[in-house]
Amino acid sequence: MKLTTIAFDADDTLWENEGFFRQIEADVGELLSDYCSPEEFSRRCRKSEHDNIPLYGYGLKGFTLSMLEAAVDLSGRTLPADLTSAILEAGKAMLRHPIQLLPEVEETLIALQGRYRLLIITKGDLYHQEHKIEASGLAWLFDGSHVVSEKDPDLYRRIFEADGQGPRRSMMVGNSPKSDVLPAMEAGAFGVYVPQPLAWERDAAPVPVDGKRCFQIGRMGELERVLEIIETGKAHSA
Ligand SMILES: [Mg+2]
Repeated sequence: MKLTTIAFDADDTLWENEGFFRQIEADVGELLSDYCSPEEFSRRCRKSEHDNIPLYGYGLKGFTLSMLEAAVDLSGRTLPADLTSAILEAGKAMLRHPIQLLPEVEETLIALQGRYRLLIITKGDLYHQEHKIEASGLAWLFDGSHVVSEKDPDLYRRIFEADGQGPRRSMMVGNSPKSDVLPAMEAGAFGVYVPQPLAWERDAAPVPVDGKRCFQIGRMGELERVLEIIETGKAHSA
């Protein structure tokens, strides 16, 4: 069994992401100390973000607007203009944040390039995600990238049919059980779960690791061993 296509999630799979969001939220929470505790702000942000996803979709712009909405509510609709500006500025600072690749990502992609079709499949704001892919310095290693509004089995099926030899010879690698591993597996692909310490609670779900079609790795460098298991039917003995 030889795989043709390996797709990767981007945020918190190839590079750091969630930690920056949490940091910005904590910083803004400090600014709002006249109105609420940072924890209260954080809770209210989660709720706004959650409620707004059907309207704004995923990504930084929706996150910024949700922080603003939370701040307006917690201030009893008296949020001063300088705090409004500070929140908008915090969102812009995130857009300018340099990309920090996760360990072993670049080496692993270099090792796999040419042997498989490598894809990025990521949710978020189109402009921001494209910018991050460019700024990561990894773009040359990928055969294609897809910035999508939702990741469901149908999407994976379509991408793996169009870019390879179908889901059964494809693999999805990511840090989110709900958007990366489970829907890709439902489409018929192999799933590889790479957990990150800061998980978005929306993304949590049990992962059916079986060492056959579903794997969990602690770091990206272990991906080659997983491919060897799938393609030779046995674990690397070294
Ligand atoms: Mg992710």
